[in-house]
Amino acid sequence: MLSNFEENLQKYAKLLVAKGINVQPGDWVKMTITVDQAPLARLVTKEAYGLGAEKVIIKWSDDEITKLNYLNQPTEVLTDIPQYEIDESEDHVLNHRVSRLSIISSDPGLLNEADPAKVAAYQNIAGKAFHAQRKATQNDDLKWTVAAAAGAGWAAKVFPNLATSEEQVDALWDQIFKACRVYEADPIAAWDEHKKTLNEKADKLNDIQFDALHYTAPGTDLTLGLPKNHIWACAESYNPKGDEFIANMPTEEVFTAPDTRRMDGVVRSTKPLSYAGTLIEGIEVHFKDGKIVEISAEKGDEAIKKLVFDNEGGTGLGEVALVPDPSPISQSGITFFNTLFDENASNHLAIGSAYPTTIQGGTTMSPEELRANGMNTSTVHVDFMIGSANMDIDGIKTDGTIVPIFRNGDWAF
Ligand code: ZN
Ligand code: ZN
Repeated sequence: MLSNFEENLQKYAKLLVAKGINVQPGDWVKMTITVDQAPLARLVTKEAYGLGAEKVIIKWSDDEITKLNYLNQPTEVLTDIPQYEIDESEDHVLNHRVSRLSIISSDPGLLNEADPAKVAAYQNIAGKAFHAQRKATQNDDLKWTVAAAAGAGWAAKVFPNLATSEEQVDALWDQIFKACRVYEADPIAAWDEHKKTLNEKADKLNDIQFDALHYTAPGTDLTLGLPKNHIWACAESYNPKGDEFIANMPTEEVFTAPDTRRMDGVVRSTKPLSYAGTLIEGIEVHFKDGKIVEISAEKGDEAIKKLVFDNEGGTGLGEVALVPDPSPISQSGITFFNTLFDENASNHLAIGSAYPTTIQGGTTMSPEELRANGMNTSTVHVDFMIGSANMDIDGIKTDGTIVPIFRNGDWAF
């Protein structure tokens, strides 16, 4: 067992509720978590009530059973989401503005044996069925945090060379605690300091309002327009009441939305992407006139093609994020096979919907208005990683002036 594990797990639970979803008296909290992480769930529940939460709802799942369901249920049964589940979700979101805490711990290859068409069909249907929840989350109408816990299947994938499952799980917890600053004497103060650094970059980018970004790296030559009045955001977000929360823990990124109508060139992924239980590697994407016209992957080719071409808005991009290669997660040299970590080691783009919070007035725009402003709308949002120590990024101003933003994978700005 990792030394002081209990104590650090407690500090982590406290950080997730006090800083992550920032529980306020009277809040409802909903946590999705797997059954093997029950000790963390109990600590989170206790801390949330301690901060005055009125109700804590836990949505349990089990990886082994999830996999069995995918392998055994016919597609039409798997994708038949009962109305009462939708009603329940809408009640939590619309009537209680529930704060959502999603704990990611699963084996990224969990569904590798399942039929990719079935997995894609479920993702597609669930995206539509739980539309209210997705919209409220993307608009920051509710407070939400995505964080990690060290599941055995996931840990085995990250640390295959460690001898026992226990050592693998310990090593992964160690990385999670490090990345989330749990080992600091005062993790909450450490997060405040970290946020300050990210905000300085975001403020500078917001002042300049670049017209486009130009990416170059081996296999990459991509130009992405940026919408008028785009907003570069980072660590913290705010719900309509003005309560702060942190959507991703860990987080190292400064991000906005690209103008999905102005995308041209080619980009290659630099880290594996774990999407819907499938591992996708060596992605190459070709853009022309604001659309993905061609996508392929050395591994997981079918899954990535389905993601892009079978989902509404899948040929557009919704996010462009800057993460310096010297970031702590990148420097760990570990591939986590998990977007929450790998995206924070690397510049990334997201296939699918844009966050309406990344353009002035976006949260009150209709989908048509968002699209008219260059913001992509979609039922999916999937990040893929493109950064490396070899990547340069230029900002292009409206008058054509070029300003270096990244050189050799780090801020030049
Ligand atoms: Zn991101
Ligand atoms: Zn994203």
